[in-house]
Amino acid sequence: MPTLKKKVEFFGGGIHLGVPVKLVVKPSKKIGIFFRRTDIVGSKSILARYDNVGDTKMRNTTVGNLGGAHVKTIEHLMAALFIAGVDSANIEIAGPETPILDGSAMEFLNAFIAAGVTGGKYKRIIVRRPVVVTARDAMRQVPFFTRMKIYLMNFISGRKLDGFVKLAPCDNDSLNINATLVYKEKIIGKQSFSYSYDGTKKSCRDFLKNIARARTFGKYSEWEYLKAHGMGRGATEKNVIALNNNGDGTLNKVYWPDEFVRHKIIDAIGDMFTSGGFVVGNLESYKGSHAMNNMVLRKLFSCPDNYDIVE
Ligand SMILES: [Zn+2]
Repeated sequence: MPTLKKKVEFFGGGIHLGVPVKLVVKPSKKIGIFFRRTDIVGSKSILARYDNVGDTKMRNTTVGNLGGAHVKTIEHLMAALFIAGVDSANIEIAGPETPILDGSAMEFLNAFIAAGVTGGKYKRIIVRRPVVVTARDAMRQVPFFTRMKIYLMNFISGRKLDGFVKLAPCDNDSLNINATLVYKEKIIGKQSFSYSYDGTKKSCRDFLKNIARARTFGKYSEWEYLKAHGMGRGATEKNVIALNNNGDGTLNKVYWPDEFVRHKIIDAIGDMFTSGGFVVGNLESYKGSHAMNNMVLRKLFSCPDNYDIVE
C-alpha cells in the first residue's frame, strides 16, 4: 500500500466551475484513494473507484453521489498519483472540483515526487480476456433526446461514431496505452501516441518528459457557450489549448504538435486508476472518452474470468 511520506497541498480553481479551493492529499494506511468534502458538514469519504464514477458528460471524471457529495474532474490528479506510485491517500477538498492548476498532471506529479512515496507494491489487476466498449455502446447511456441531437449533429458534420476503448491481455508487466484522436480540425487531424508504465523510475521519467505537461483543448468559439452552461469557467490560456475558429491553428502555443493526443494518455491513465490498482494490459483508445473508459472497467469487472488480482 504505497502512500505519500507527507501531506501535499494545492490551491486553485477547477476548470469547469472556476471556484478556487484548497485540496490536501494526505498519507493513508488504507488502500484506496478517498476524497472527502470538507465544505460539507458530516460528509463521508468517497472512494475514487469506477463504480462510484458518475456523470461524465461534462467531459470529465466525477466521483460520488451527484445529488450529494461529489468531486469533479479527478482524472489528472488520479493520473499523477498513479505515476508517482501512490495507491493509498486521503484527499480533503473544500469544494466540488479539483484545482486545474496548469491543466496537466505536471504540478500534481512534481509535488508527489518531492514529498516522496513509501511502502509496498501496487495491487495488480491483470487483464485475462479482451473487453471492448464502442462509442455506440456509450451513446446508449445518453438520454433519448440528447442522443437524437448528437446523431443529427454527427450526420450534418459527417462525424463518424466509430470510436472504441479496448482492454486486452499483454505479455509484459505493464499498462501499455495507445491512444488515437481523429478531428476534422486540421491542427489536430489524426494523431496517435503510445506510452507504457511498468512501475519503474524510467517509466515515470518518460511520463514526465513526454506526457505530464500536455493540456486539454477546446475550441475558442465554444468557450462562450460552455461558460453560459457552467463549464470552462476556470479555463485560461495557461491551462487549455484554445483552437482558433478555423480549426487550423491555436491561440496559445502548444508544447508539441501532438499535445492533444498526449493529453488523452493522461486522461486514460487517470481513468484506469479508478480500477483501484495497476491495470496490467493493453489499452487501445480510438477516439475514446471518459465515459468509454469507465464503461470498459465496468465490463472488465463484470465477469471474474476477465481478470486476476495479484496483491
Ligand atoms: Zn484531461
